[in-house]
Amino acid sequence: MISLTERDRRVIWHPYTQHKGFLPPIPIVKGKGTLLFDDKDNAYIDAISSWWVNIHGHAHPHIAEKLHRQALQLEHVIFTGFTHEPAVALAERLLPILPGNFSRVFYSDNGSTAVEVAIKMAIQYWGNRHDRDTTSRRRNKILAFHHSYHGDTFGAMSVSERSVFTDAFRDYLFEPVFIDTPSPDNIYDLLKLVREQGPEIACIIYEPLLQAAGGMRMYDAASFDQLLAEIAGQGILMIADEVLTGFGRTGKLFAGEYLRHKADIICLSKGLTGGSMALGVTATTTPIFEAFLSDDKRKTLFHGHSFTANPLACSAALASLDLLLDEDCLRRIDHIARRQEAFLETLGSYPIVRNARSLGTVAAFELNTGRDEYINAIGPRLTQEALDAGIYLRPLGNTVYFMPPYCITEKEMDQVYDFLVHCLMSYSKQVLTS
Ligand SMILES: *Cc1c(COP(=O)(O)O)cnc(C)c1O
Repeated sequence: MISLTERDRRVIWHPYTQHKGFLPPIPIVKGKGTLLFDDKDNAYIDAISSWWVNIHGHAHPHIAEKLHRQALQLEHVIFTGFTHEPAVALAERLLPILPGNFSRVFYSDNGSTAVEVAIKMAIQYWGNRHDRDTTSRRRNKILAFHHSYHGDTFGAMSVSERSVFTDAFRDYLFEPVFIDTPSPDNIYDLLKLVREQGPEIACIIYEPLLQAAGGMRMYDAASFDQLLAEIAGQGILMIADEVLTGFGRTGKLFAGEYLRHKADIICLSKGLTGGSMALGVTATTTPIFEAFLSDDKRKTLFHGHSFTANPLACSAALASLDLLLDEDCLRRIDHIARRQEAFLETLGSYPIVRNARSLGTVAAFELNTGRDEYINAIGPRLTQEALDAGIYLRPLGNTVYFMPPYCITEKEMDQVYDFLVHCLMSYSKQVLTS
């Protein structure tokens, strides 16, 4: 019989994977809690939450049960002339817990599409306003941060930092105004830029406080609030991309809770369904929704996906919220956050470690090996060593991070910490002797 790995090699094109020299992927046959099991029954701690989506552990019985029941009831229906309970119930439950005055939910399939929808809402908002009242200026600039990542579709790529991810497409992307994330050192210049260009700027898109794919970069909430105050004053729409930071990742339900100024549009995905189904949400406020109300059909938001508001995905999201809003889960998030902080403090004695930092359940540091870049060779090497130790880690270049599901046990956390310390000792020795 041909192995699954061999069948995969013949027919599959994997994401973010250079297939030349690609090590055979590991067949995963089941998941339980933090653990993934391969076809030889080896267990791996999922230390990056399966690309940041899993928050309650794998194959959670509560989510599975709700999915099963919904599948027998209604698996999918077109969402234009029809509606259904899971979509409405999810919007009703989400809106009051989001950080801001959100009153409308628009569904799509994933983080990138949630971002596409947000950008389209913001651009068309200014167009619709201008058409209604020609003294209202059409705004066409978009602000985005250096090192940002908002997804892989063209609009999302356009507002993401130009990098190895976007190089091949650079001639086909629209150009936002890129600015540095705020800090006490640059805040004066940023405020000046927003003051000067404000009336032309339609929106700003940002990952609040944690730029994940850009290298787990964390930035200062106080400076950011200063910048947001100026941005709000200029009427610029604020798009919070909480695709990663949502649902407890940063220690609060949403990273926006750390900020005084609230977004006008918020993008959600990843942890939304507990990591079980593909679903995206773009939520917005009443003024933005109302800018699309018109007798003129051309003012409509012409956007939708075949699987918009898929009832299975919405049911999974409702089940995930049941679990997340349970006090026990919030306590575990808190506990993980404290342990991550304590662990990072112990790394000060390793010269090979730079910039150890954490925000909520996310811990990260750089390894002083080679250049700071995504294609740094240390990443794949550490991944391989981690697999041998029964752990799945996937550094972003030389940025190592640990982002577990909230159900991770003390023992599993220790296993990851022990492995990381072991690596640091072994890499330090090699750097010293080389
Ligand atoms: C992952 C991510 C996206 C893209 O989400 P996909 O579901 O992978 O398309 C967008 N924004 C942020 C902040 C992300 O981390």
